[in-house]
Amino acid sequence: MLVRPTVRAFRTSRCRPAFAPPHNSNEFSRIPTPMTAQLIDGKQIAEQCRQQVRQQADAMLQQTGITPHLAAILCGDDPASQVYVRNKEKACATAGFRSTLHRLPADVTQPQLLQLIAALNSNPDVHGILVQLPLPRHLDTVAILDAVAPLKDVDAFHPENVGLMLQGRPRFVPCTPSGVMRLLSATGIPTAGRHAVVIGRSDIVGKPMAALLLQKGADATVTVCHSRTPDIAVLCRQADIVVAAVGIPRFVRGDWLKPDAVVIDVGINRLGDKLVGDVDFDAAVDRVAAITPVPGGVGPMTIAMLLENTLTAARLQINHP
Ligand code: NAD
Repeated sequence: MLVRPTVRAFRTSRCRPAFAPPHNSNEFSRIPTPMTAQLIDGKQIAEQCRQQVRQQADAMLQQTGITPHLAAILCGDDPASQVYVRNKEKACATAGFRSTLHRLPADVTQPQLLQLIAALNSNPDVHGILVQLPLPRHLDTVAILDAVAPLKDVDAFHPENVGLMLQGRPRFVPCTPSGVMRLLSATGIPTAGRHAVVIGRSDIVGKPMAALLLQKGADATVTVCHSRTPDIAVLCRQADIVVAAVGIPRFVRGDWLKPDAVVIDVGINRLGDKLVGDVDFDAAVDRVAAITPVPGGVGPMTIAMLLENTLTAARLQINHP
């Protein structure tokens, strides 16, 4: 869903008003061209995804008597993690899912956490398991995530699911990159043959994002930039699609972007009481073709994709088509 923001800007000088009629046909070329980017409305697209999930969950309940059930594990009292988990619980409720939150103290031991995961793995009543990151520093995150049963791994972090996704036969797709792909397809933005520059190479966002854009069907040509990449601005200026997942507020500057670029801002950074992305939105919005806002772009899609993965997990475990 593309929505025009209220901001208006013009590519050329404002020497004549935009609404002035041309004196002759040649003057069309001198009329300032509106250049405000189209806003990719993640909130609205996510809402549509969530409604579809709700309908499918209702149908599953009618046909099988089973409700998808997500178990979330939260270790410690990190305020941001508490908000994320609460939002996921709310989303489950509106999708008609069950959710259970397992709160553990910040000093929980590795064996205690592994024991809880083992219990959830073997509980047929639980379809999806989510371990909220980051974990307290004394815990081995990789070992913890590897312990989640692959069929319940709704975040798609388990190596088995990462491998399946890389081979182009995904069981679950990591929620944030999956949400980005859905934003692009829902807004009719083509990826085939286009040059996508992904900034960031994390296991959660950057790497799977690059893999999905590269996949047959998406067919983008992908460049991945990271903290050791020189001249990111030069690479960005060649990009038809820029996906920023850096974690640095307003890292991508307006003059790094081509006028017809599509900009997907994954970043969520708190600046005072404001949330800002990894792209300098105010500088970019007057230059590019389309852009996601922060908040209201990728964030809502991440939760919608988590719901889809949980529904898939329930289907796989009860053998429901
Ligand atoms: P991360 O810290 O794990 O990874 C950041 C990546 O950026 C790294 O790969 C690093 O190489 C790269 N990087 C760091 N500094 C750089 C520099 N100066 N130049 C180029 N590359 C640089 O972060 P992440 O988990 O991938 O998250 C990235 C951002 O996305 C964060 O702001 C995070 O809050 C946000 N995020 C949003 C959602 C969502 O739902 N919208 C989900 C996950 C993450």
